[in-house]
Amino acid sequence: MVDHLANKEVNSQRIAAVESCFGGVLTKQCSKKAKRRIFFLFNDILVYGSIVLSKRKYRSQHIIPLEEVTLEPLPKTLQAKNRWMIKTAKKSFVLSAASTMERQEWISHIEECMRTQLLSTGRQPTTEHAAPWIPDKVTDICKCCTQTRFSTLTRRHHCRKCGFLVCAGCSRERFLLPCLSPKPPRVCSLCYRELASQKQREEAREGIRVALNPFLPLPPPLPPPSSSSSSSSSSPTPSWFCFFQDRI
Ligand SMILES: [Zn+2]
Ligand SMILES: [Zn+2]
Repeated sequence: MVDHLANKEVNSQRIAAVESCFGGVLTKQCSKKAKRRIFFLFNDILVYGSIVLSKRKYRSQHIIPLEEVTLEPLPKTLQAKNRWMIKTAKKSFVLSAASTMERQEWISHIEECMRTQLLSTGRQPTTEHAAPWIPDKVTDICKCCTQTRFSTLTRRHHCRKCGFLVCAGCSRERFLLPCLSPKPPRVCSLCYRELASQKQREEAREGIRVALNPFLPLPPPLPPPSSSSSSSSSSPTPSWFCFFQDRI
C-alpha cells in the first residue's frame, strides 16, 4: 500500500513535470511527407512522438539529448516558412512552426537548455551531424546515375551519408559510419568512393607513422574530402536543401 502511494506520488510528480514543460505540436518533415508531431522540451532532452489522440495519447517517442543538438534556422521558401533544422550525429530533420514567433520561442528555449546542459556537463557541442534525408517527393531521378526514374516498381533509397535519393544499383555498398550505427549502413556509390579513398589515405598515413616511429602520438584526423555530400560538411545547410528548397 505504501509502495503504491509512493509510486502514485512519483508518477504525479512526473506528470506535473511533463505538463509544466515547454511543448507543442510542430510539423516534422519526414521522407514520405510532412507530419504533425508532439514535442516536449525538458532541461536535458527533447522528446517527440506521433499524436494518437490530441492531448491524450502519444506514441513512438524519440528522445534527443540536448547536448548533442545543433540548431539551424532555414530560409523561407515558396512552400514553407518558419522552419529550422535539428541536427545530431544520428539523425537530422526539418521542423516547422505555425508562426515566426512560435519558431523563435522554440529556438530560444532549446538554445537556452542546450547552453545550460553543456555548461553543467562540460561537454563540447557536437560537430559531426547526420545528413537530413531528402523528402521523396522532391525528385524522381537517382542522384548518382541520373538515369533511373523512381516509380512504384523502382524503389528509392536514401544514402545514409549524404541523404540523397538513389536507385538500388547506385546504393549497393555499405560503409561503417560509427556515429550513425554499429552496422555499416547503405551509402550511395559516390559517397562510398569518397569514404573508401579517405580510409585508404588514413591507413597509408598510419602505416608511415608506425614505420617511422610507433611511439609518436597519433596525428589529428584528416579533414573529410571536400564534397557536397559530406554529412559533416562545414556548409551549414545541407546541399540538397539549397538545391531543392523551392520544392520542399
Ligand atoms: Zn542510380
Ligand atoms: Zn551519398
